Amino acid sequence: MNFEEFHLKLLGVVEPWYVTGVEGNDELENEEVRVSLAHRDDATWDCPECCKACPLHDHGREREWRHLDTCQAKTFLVARLPRVRCGDCGVRQIEAPWAEDGSRFTLLMEIHILRTLHRCQTVKGTGEVIRASWDAVWAVEKRGVDRGLSRRMEMGATHIGIDEKAYKKGHRYHTLVYDLKERCVLFINEDRKKTSLKAYYDMLSDE
Ligand SMILES: [Zn+2]
Repeated sequence: MNFEEFHLKLLGVVEPWYVTGVEGNDELENEEVRVSLAHRDDATWDCPECCKACPLHDHGREREWRHLDTCQAKTFLVARLPRVRCGDCGVRQIEAPWAEDGSRFTLLMEIHILRTLHRCQTVKGTGEVIRASWDAVWAVEKRGVDRGLSRRMEMGATHIGIDEKAYKKGHRYHTLVYDLKERCVLFINEDRKKTSLKAYYDMLSDE
């Protein structure tokens, strides 16, 4: 197994993507490894809107995703993501299978950051351990919370409790919705009006 094949295996990068090269720098202070990815020329891509298989149209700009470290070196995946021209939807950007839309980290790195956050309990501490900025770690945490909340909404609560909480010495209120069975907060909104609660019901599906 050569170095490229070894990385491919470690990265979990799947067909039609493959590794074209691995580059490191020799500076001891700031060791970084860049793994360049490309895809097979004859690959087809599913339109992100309608899922129809489409041929390649062109590529977006080169992008980087921070991946799990290789030994002590920060490691980045580098690729230009394809765009397709769908007959029904027009030109659409294909997302990377190794990262979530808009993330500067790979999925595996996000999982590692979330686990570190769970143990460290602070964004600052996690940033120091993984050598990333406060903002970058915060973005991962926010995405994790959003994913958890949308899963919670999908599951659907069978018994809810509704409460109002006063703050600023009782001059202002928040409306809270709880899942009484799972014993967790489902929703928080400003004020204690009909519209405060309506926003919760609006998030639910008809079912
Ligand atoms: Zn389409």
